[in-house]
Amino acid sequence: MSTFQNKIIIITAPSGAGKTSITRYLLETIPDKLAFSVSATTRAARAYEKNGVDYFFLSPESFRQNIQENAFVEWEMVYEGKYYGTLRSELQKTWDQGKIPLLDIDVKGAIHVKQQFPETSLSLFIEPPSVAVLRERLLSRGTETTESLEARVNKASYELSFKDQFDAIILNDELSKACREALKHISSFIKQ
Ligand code: 5GP
Repeated sequence: MSTFQNKIIIITAPSGAGKTSITRYLLETIPDKLAFSVSATTRAARAYEKNGVDYFFLSPESFRQNIQENAFVEWEMVYEGKYYGTLRSELQKTWDQGKIPLLDIDVKGAIHVKQQFPETSLSLFIEPPSVAVLRERLLSRGTETTESLEARVNKASYELSFKDQFDAIILNDELSKACREALKHISSFIKQ
């Protein structure tokens, strides 16, 4: 496998386990090698999010159109009625730049990408110290309603049962340590 040849890095975790912070750290630390894969979603943009930077915010019709055109490597209804998908065009754009796309996606989506690219992808599962800590983190983030918080916590417990399907499990009991560990795995994957 030669350097950068259509490699993919997948970071997954139950929501609130810290994968977004770890993803940000990795992108800032090796910006010449990694590029964030901007997903498409039908959920509403949060106040601080920008279209085309955080996500491509699509209408349900437009999302369905992309499914029909086979534009997604994978797509999932991650939350009730809300769709998320990884665009083939995003992966290709990054490869064309000589970089590796970094996917921050849910557990099911991560398993699907890994199945399609078993040799050329690295999948990292970020594990929260406990479901109770995860609930606390989601609460302090302040982006959830009581209902969506419960949905995310329930889903997290279920997703933890898939952790053994990933190339590496990184326990996020201390963010800086988890960041360094993820970087170590990625550095050796890049060199392969
Ligand atoms: P949020 O709504 O908090 O931005 O993201 C919710 C969940 O959807 C997170 O676990 C995030 O990683 C996941 N997600 C984001 N993009 C994709 C994608 O393209 N595909 C899948 N399967 N999940 C995604």
